Amino acid sequence: MAKAQKINGVRGMNDILPADAPIWAEFEGVAQDVLAMYGYKQIRTPILEQTPLFKRGIGEVTDIVEKEMYCFTDSLNGEQLALRPENTAGVVRSVIEHNLCYNAPQRLWYFGPMFRHERPQRGRYRQFHQLGVEALGFGGPDVDVEQILMARRMFDELGILPLKLELNSLGNADERKAHREALIQYFESHQDILDEDAKRRLYTNPLRILDTKNPEMQAMVEAAPRLLDYWKDDSLAFLKRLEQMLSTAGVEYSINPRLVRGLDYYNHTVYEWVTDKLGAQATVCGGGRYDPLVEMLGGRATPGVGFAMGVERILEVMREMGYENNDPDTELYVMHSGGDSQLYAMNLGEIMRDAGYDVIVHAGSGSFKSQMKKADASGATFALICGEDETANHKVTVKRMFGEEGERFMQQETIALEDAIRFFVDIDDLEVEE
Ligand code: ATP
Ligand code: MG
Repeated sequence: MAKAQKINGVRGMNDILPADAPIWAEFEGVAQDVLAMYGYKQIRTPILEQTPLFKRGIGEVTDIVEKEMYCFTDSLNGEQLALRPENTAGVVRSVIEHNLCYNAPQRLWYFGPMFRHERPQRGRYRQFHQLGVEALGFGGPDVDVEQILMARRMFDELGILPLKLELNSLGNADERKAHREALIQYFESHQDILDEDAKRRLYTNPLRILDTKNPEMQAMVEAAPRLLDYWKDDSLAFLKRLEQMLSTAGVEYSINPRLVRGLDYYNHTVYEWVTDKLGAQATVCGGGRYDPLVEMLGGRATPGVGFAMGVERILEVMREMGYENNDPDTELYVMHSGGDSQLYAMNLGEIMRDAGYDVIVHAGSGSFKSQMKKADASGATFALICGEDETANHKVTVKRMFGEEGERFMQQETIALEDAIRFFVDIDDLEVEE
């Protein structure tokens, strides 16, 4: 047969290989512990949703909906579907559909892949992962702060602090309307400097123009009318209380009046956690309040606030900060010489797993020398050797693969099976210094 051509993965969509699994597990473990500390419950929604959900839930005039969404028509029934580019819309859809907020407000979290058709580069992929939270039914600003503290606690436990917290308030709908009119007037008077994106957004989403990365527009944008000059009593009071709570909790932040999160329905709190370790893709988490969203998606008016973390970027910061995985993958490697000794070894493997150990029983055949190499490569702390003699006499040879001088089994020893089992049951933790 001619050699079949290989098929590669999709550009911008990464495999998470076994060597990377521990850092993902570390992140997920820390995140789940912290989420539980704050009473957040997991929700898992589908990766596919109806396209109109995102158009309405994110906004027609946003980067995501205009040019990053994977949309398709289901050829089997003509439905318009999209791979989720984010998960706030999906969570809110689910909450409305199942009436979750009927009796009580909800503190929810999710974790999973998101999809955006962007140009792949460091920190920017077409499939990436977000861990996010959404609190629905809380007016804030206390819950807004709770989420900031929760994120900070995760970052702390992951060892990636300090990060910069940039904060802004988008005010309420009236204030944004007044500001928006002033912005449109201002941009109209600078038509010649506006790029294509900005021109297109001038009347649909002028706020988003403030977020431009075009260097030629920076000076003009810097001098644009600032939303904070339009804040009235309520918004000022909301922001003041939020700042008071942050200060009390010892959270450092800076107000960035240019920080917007594009979407029309965001109000009051918006923020981003930013690292100086990653170059251009520096935002590791973005959050904010979206009080109008639930109603916009057909539910009863319910305030909401949440954040989404870019997990790949966070892992990258962890690596930059020197994260190393020190847990051995395997604790015991059981070797044998085939025949009855293989049966004996497999049985020993089950006994040790009953005792709570992670065990690899050598599969297939092979000399003890080659098995020893595999044991070494597995990272196991001990090799347990079941040769013909051991099998015939109910014994096992124990060899410590690494450790300190003077520790037991640094020199291999053949002992009774019962003694070996007792030894491993008694040491309940394999302390490993690598
Ligand atoms: P950016 O300005 O970097 O495009 P964004 O505003 O599109 O970010 P959000 O929609 O707020 O990002 O998503 C929250 C977080 O998810 C981001 O802060 C980032 O950490 C991460 N993220 C967003 N898009 C990607 C991507 N394509 N690849 C990897 N991570 C991403
Ligand atoms: Mg983006």
